[in-house]
Amino acid sequence: MEPKASSASQPFWEATKEQKFLLPWCKDCEKPFWYPRVMCPHCLGESIEWKEASGQGSVYASAVHWKPGMPPAGDLKPPFVVSLIDLEEGVRMLSNVIGCEATDVHEGMSVKITWEKLSDGRFLPQFEPAS
Ligand SMILES: [Zn+2]
Repeated sequence: MEPKASSASQPFWEATKEQKFLLPWCKDCEKPFWYPRVMCPHCLGESIEWKEASGQGSVYASAVHWKPGMPPAGDLKPPFVVSLIDLEEGVRMLSNVIGCEATDVHEGMSVKITWEKLSDGRFLPQFEPAS
């Protein structure tokens, strides 16, 4: 099942078509946040701008899934990893780490963004080992 774009996340998904990784930033308190929403979770400001992120981060925590997801999680075959990624910009994002053995993913591991093509021209951000 592919993720749907909401009105708040539309700019994010549009940018993924060019494999650009945008984060929403609050113009009032100048902090980034994740996930996309219409109001800043730090100060409740409503002036949002989108800035390109580095795509670099590290694994905060992970769970290895040994059985297929419900509903099946894209092309991921078990075992696969669902991780919380701490991005350089200071936000935490739920994603998958691919491109290595699921059991090799560990806390503090450096990761960078990689893209999985979706059927409608968008790309889903995923992460892979940075080195
Ligand atoms: Zn704010």
